[in-house]
Amino acid sequence: MIKRKFMYAFILLSLSIVLVVNYYSSLESLWMLILIPAVTTVILCPTWKAAITVGFSSFILMVITEFVFHRVQPSFRDAVHLMITGAVEWIIFMTASFFQIRTAKMIAELGNLALTDPLTKIYNRRYLDWNLEKSSLFPNKEQSMTLILFDIDYFKAINDTFGHNAGDMVLKKVCRVVKEIIRESDIFVRTGGEEFLIFLQDCSLEQGIKLAERIRKTVEETDFVYKDKRIYVTISVGVSKYSKEKDLKEFTEKADQALYQAKETGRNKVVVI
Ligand code: GH3
Ligand code: MG
Ligand code: MG
Repeated sequence: MIKRKFMYAFILLSLSIVLVVNYYSSLESLWMLILIPAVTTVILCPTWKAAITVGFSSFILMVITEFVFHRVQPSFRDAVHLMITGAVEWIIFMTASFFQIRTAKMIAELGNLALTDPLTKIYNRRYLDWNLEKSSLFPNKEQSMTLILFDIDYFKAINDTFGHNAGDMVLKKVCRVVKEIIRESDIFVRTGGEEFLIFLQDCSLEQGIKLAERIRKTVEETDFVYKDKRIYVTISVGVSKYSKEKDLKEFTEKADQALYQAKETGRNKVVVI
């Protein structure tokens, strides 16, 4: 992956070269060189807004350099050549931009699909593993962070009694309920079948425990109805606080132990480690 700073420096450098070359030369076709910084900009920022802005400003730059700053005033014939060069350049640039924007959109969609759970539409295990590997979940290590790990109680019995579709409905509704409670910035992941993890950024252990209790209580009080049958759903929750000396794997393991204790000591409760 090319570094952004390098790309910006490259854009500025190539743009300066284009301006200098065109200032000292009367060859209109040299304006084609402006495609280099223009295309690089769209690679960096693949949007139509960027493409139109860059396309338009390249044209303005060309006109200003040729007609205002150029030492020799171009003749009418030169001006026509210049316009043709500008038009050809614009068509090439817009075609390249179209493919670049389409590819960038496709890559973003594929990335979303790869990192999102198709049933609940929250992040999946792959997202977590990918981020744990890069240690990029929490860029600011000085922030206090709390982790909530929860698992639906006796979920197998729900599937066995009401069917797999009822189980799916429960999974989706639990996620909807939790999403309404947590903040946009919190990272909500389906780690496995009926197990979920929430990374709470900039959140003390006390706040985390309060939130975990609120989530547990809300799920317990939510009506889960499938084909007119009421399903009683509860969750067991483990909470752990992250200290910056420990790595994220240790952090998740602690929450896992807390969840295990919650299960062992009766379920439908919050345990903190
Ligand atoms: P515990 O309280 O100890 O967590 O018991 P449990 O029954 O919830 O846990 P267990 O691990 O025995 O069963 C989990 C079940 O979740 C088994 C599996 O078939 C079901 N499951 C996993 N993924 C899905 C899914 O996407 N949809 C549905 N409907 N069921 C799923
Ligand atoms: Mg379970
Ligand atoms: Mg489980």
